[in-house]
Amino acid sequence: MTRNEPTPDANADTNADGAAASLKASVLVEALPYIRRFAGKTVVVKYGGNALAGTSDHDALALFAEDIVLMRLVGMRPIVVHGGGPQISALMARLGKEPEFLDGLRITDAETVDIARMVLKGQVNPQLVAAINVHGRFAVGISGVDAGLIRATARDEKLGFVGDVTQINPEVIHGLIDDEFIPVIATIGSDETGQAYNINADTVAGAIAEAIGAEKLVYLTDIEGLRRDVADATSLIRQATADELDELVAEGIIAGGMIPKIASCTHAVRNGVHRAHILDGRIAHVLLLEVFTDAGIGTMVMQHRDEPTLDQPLEGALS
Ligand code: ADP
Ligand code: MG
Repeated sequence: MTRNEPTPDANADTNADGAAASLKASVLVEALPYIRRFAGKTVVVKYGGNALAGTSDHDALALFAEDIVLMRLVGMRPIVVHGGGPQISALMARLGKEPEFLDGLRITDAETVDIARMVLKGQVNPQLVAAINVHGRFAVGISGVDAGLIRATARDEKLGFVGDVTQINPEVIHGLIDDEFIPVIATIGSDETGQAYNINADTVAGAIAEAIGAEKLVYLTDIEGLRRDVADATSLIRQATADELDELVAEGIIAGGMIPKIASCTHAVRNGVHRAHILDGRIAHVLLLEVFTDAGIGTMVMQHRDEPTLDQPLEGALS
């Protein structure tokens, strides 16, 4: 029914209901080949601290939790890695401690790494776990210290306890996903002496995706994707290969929080991860839209362009 075609009032509601029902049905049918294709596949989703801080007017955390649970219920194996930069800064402010940054990285003294650990493992991680477990008994919160998941070393003495990943020991993740749990990972790592380090969550998400051979690596952030010009909202780059991203990095168009995401995307797709995506976490149900519909959103990164360019179901997937 179009607006210009007047319909007798008595039928209008029925027709509208019918149209809504057939739209719902077509959305579900559209999802079918994707559900089939991604069944049993592992997807690492990095949820940014900015997304969690709530830049949108809907309850972004609750919608995110629904998406993760739906992915899990149709047979995918989601793994959540989260940051918490704004929340760490907020607690530091409450404690009267001024955050200091060097080249965009937080200078992390012994007190600050304690605060980071408290916020990530004590506040942000259980918020995510609880939001997911509203829908059932799915999520288990761990940090990179558990079962030696993330081994780290100091990046630079000047930065204090800011860590680089030296090794991912994914056994605990395999154990959890084999038991059909959803691991939710706070990005604190430790070195061989037990010293804790705060590690960039983008970097950890990429390293974990590689270590477990994930199908997809997804970054949910506070911008619609990678822009050719960060100040120009119409300059979204929809698809890029790892080599193309290397060129963009060399051109210097990638700055701040986008640097570790792009570095991890290029590294991941060159090391077995099929696709990496940078998506706008402010869009309601953006994960479902990306994974289960034909709509390509955000920026998609692949190793080579001679692969099928759209993340389409394989031909004959339903036959
Ligand atoms: P998150 O909490 O998701 O990690 P960040 O603030 O660390 O968020 O990273 C996302 C930010 O990266 C964007 O909000 C944007 O300001 C910045 N950025 C820098 N260069 C670019 C670019 N070329 N395209 C898009 N965003 C960029
Ligand atoms: Mg960031």
